[in-house]
Amino acid sequence: SKKEGRDRYGKFQPQQRMAAEQTNILINGLKSALEKDEFTLHYQSQFELRTGRLIGVEALLRWHSAELGPVPPGNFIPIAEETGAIIPIGEWVLRSAIEQGKRWIQSGLPELLLSVNVSPRQLQDRQFAGLLAVMLMEQDFPAGNLCLEITESYAIEDMEQSLQVCREIVGLGVKLALDDFGIGYSSLGMLSRFPFRTVKIDKSLIRDIDSNPYDADVVQTIVKLSGNKGMEVLAEGVETEWQMELLRRFGCHSVQGYLLGRPVPAAEFGKAHLLGRGE
Ligand code: C2E
Ligand code: CA
Ligand code: CA
Ligand code: CA
Repeated sequence: SKKEGRDRYGKFQPQQRMAAEQTNILINGLKSALEKDEFTLHYQSQFELRTGRLIGVEALLRWHSAELGPVPPGNFIPIAEETGAIIPIGEWVLRSAIEQGKRWIQSGLPELLLSVNVSPRQLQDRQFAGLLAVMLMEQDFPAGNLCLEITESYAIEDMEQSLQVCREIVGLGVKLALDDFGIGYSSLGMLSRFPFRTVKIDKSLIRDIDSNPYDADVVQTIVKLSGNKGMEVLAEGVETEWQMELLRRFGCHSVQGYLLGRPVPAAEFGKAHLLGRGE
């Protein structure tokens, strides 16, 4: 009826308009965020499970917008990917992380593996590996200390281009990790075709391994399969001792999660791991 129709519009339209306005605010905010210096990186430790040794650190982007306050990556990265803003932002992330990582490597953590998230959009850029090579050279950063975490793309047409870029990246001596494995678009196809050194199991699959035998089975199978292919498995989102114990039994190589350390500003990571040798 007419009344229902009006109710429906009455409820829906303003909401949709608000969502669209929100998106527009984000799009515009992202355009100027770099020049306004609104981005920072936080760092989360990664540990070898067998020894408990710190082996790596993942850089995670943080945006504190002047208008909006802190905006979680899950809210702005998809938009940055859609608008293409992720290209200059991703370049800033890489450059900043490499600069920071270099200091840690020099000040007492020579084997630290620096992991940086790279959007599938960045891998479609033919120039990406060249750009990376220049950055590594300019900052004199050892390629073997860098790992790029990449998520499988829905854009299958771009597979060949991405694969080519990935081969070039590995050719530089940089490592690759397959991120978010076990959810979304992840498939065994990408796992076997791309030159990954590490498979990262997504936190949503780790969350219930202590209560859900199916999830535990899937994780155990991923560990076995990756091992057969010569890849290491890193479990993310580890929050409990019992999850860690299960992962140890499954033969998982390394872990990352709130149980062992939250993402923190660079200075805090330095304090925790460099024993007063500065950041
Ligand atoms: P991701 O790459 O899968 O990163 C892991 C996310 O899980 C991070 O969320 C991290 O803070 C969170 N996390 C870590 N340990 C735990 C835990 O024990 N429990 C729970 N519940 N969560 C945990 P964050 O920092 O909000 O980042 C979200 C996503 O945004 C990332 O997921 C990644 O896909 C994307 N992202 C972050 N920084 C960048 C970046 O510099 N470039 C690109 N392209 N994407 C980024
Ligand atoms: Ca990641
Ligand atoms: Ca991801
Ligand atoms: Ca994930």
